[in-house]
Amino acid sequence: MKSKELVQRSWAEPYKIKMVELVHMTTAAERKKAIEDAGYNTFLLRSKQVYIDLLTDSGTSAMSDRQWAGMMLGDESYAGSENFYHLEATIRKYYGYKYVIPAHQGRGAENILSKVLIKPGDIIPGNMYFTTTRLHQELAGGRFVDIIIDEAHDPLSEHPFKGNVDLKKLEALVKEYGSKKIPYVCIATSVNMAGGQPISLQNLRALRDFTKKHKIKIIHDMTRVAENAYFIRMKEKGYKNKSVREIVHEICSLTDGATMSAKKDALVNIGGFLAVNDKKTYEEASNLVVVYEGLHTYGGLAGRDMEAMAIGITESVDDDHIRARVGQVEYLGNKLLEKKVPIVLPIGGHGIFIDAKRFLPHLKQKQFPAQALAAALYVDSGVRTMERGIVSAGRNADTGDHYYPELELVRLTVPRRVYTQAHMDVVAESVVEVFKKRKSISGLKMIFEPKYLRFFQARFKPL
Ligand SMILES: *Cc1c(COP(=O)(O)O)cnc(C)c1O
Repeated sequence: MKSKELVQRSWAEPYKIKMVELVHMTTAAERKKAIEDAGYNTFLLRSKQVYIDLLTDSGTSAMSDRQWAGMMLGDESYAGSENFYHLEATIRKYYGYKYVIPAHQGRGAENILSKVLIKPGDIIPGNMYFTTTRLHQELAGGRFVDIIIDEAHDPLSEHPFKGNVDLKKLEALVKEYGSKKIPYVCIATSVNMAGGQPISLQNLRALRDFTKKHKIKIIHDMTRVAENAYFIRMKEKGYKNKSVREIVHEICSLTDGATMSAKKDALVNIGGFLAVNDKKTYEEASNLVVVYEGLHTYGGLAGRDMEAMAIGITESVDDDHIRARVGQVEYLGNKLLEKKVPIVLPIGGHGIFIDAKRFLPHLKQKQFPAQALAAALYVDSGVRTMERGIVSAGRNADTGDHYYPELELVRLTVPRRVYTQAHMDVVAESVVEVFKKRKSISGLKMIFEPKYLRFFQARFKPL
């Protein structure tokens, strides 16, 4: 499928609006009280208190009329639903993986995969951690080790592929622990925690060669594979004339299996899957899924959810769709750059990441600058964002200390097909306004800390 490259002055969204959801405006006084009640954690706000919601791109996409029509074709049989076979065929067609097991969302698939492949004491190298992924690796007895290139930890580096793996770091791990202790390398496409940064096909191919030699699998966290493919097309030599669909297929072909949160790229509000090429892994996983998710032909989803996912996957690899999706993020990022707001460069695929260390240089990392900035942005305009810094990083399981990540970020995550360019203008104005009065923002103290994935439910108080 060749892309329809038009000569255009500017682009517009490749869809039009058929139904609208009214949004809620609030007063500054209401927002001040709301964030206080929410313990300065944007995850604890009610959605009614939010004007423009950039908390996450997870499960927040607008489905198409075709997906909604697909919902009416839900085959809600307990076993062997038609929608499962449609989903399986779609995954085989666009991603190329052989065996498919649905899951209620990404972490459901991560749980099953970690339990099947990881033995206590194993090492799981990956291109930067992801919160739920690392937790499931740890719960299965493994230990995550970061092997992403150093540039990924530097918000100022403009390396075009900050999602790349540093093969020397992987080689050192193989030398130290032996390849038998490394069941797989976990490779995320469009690395979330690095700012939505892509891995190149050249790097992935080199990793494939290395892992083949050492009999180590590659498991693909393919949550944002289409966005990564788009960046390959734009930035990597030799891919300008390839379609996103072709590049997606090529990425998947270099890996042995995948976990997917379909709530992101695949344009559904709930769903995910595990896909593998190896029959033995599939058989074990399809047995375990019965324990945690549901029968292997529904994995915690309704038939209609699987139908919407199958259609969403097809739409997600369309060139025009992905260009508008990433284009909207770029539009917002460029507005902030014009006003010298410090953001992670290059602009990533699913959101803008404000560098809270440079935005609030008067705060120490243990005063939770990104958490404080997300709260201040909400109070300014009702725009909801989230922290990706020390709170998200959690604590070292062995020592109990905070992890102190290099990156202390506020993520402005853009939902797919939901907001217009005018919404992005409002967001940019609010960020710039808060940037002007940044010196008045004080740090926070954590007053409640949950044991797992603390960023979701922790509570804070101003210092
Ligand atoms: C969201 C996400 C997950 C987990 O998926 P859920 O559907 O939220 O359970 C895993 N990996 C990455 C990179 C993600 O962004």
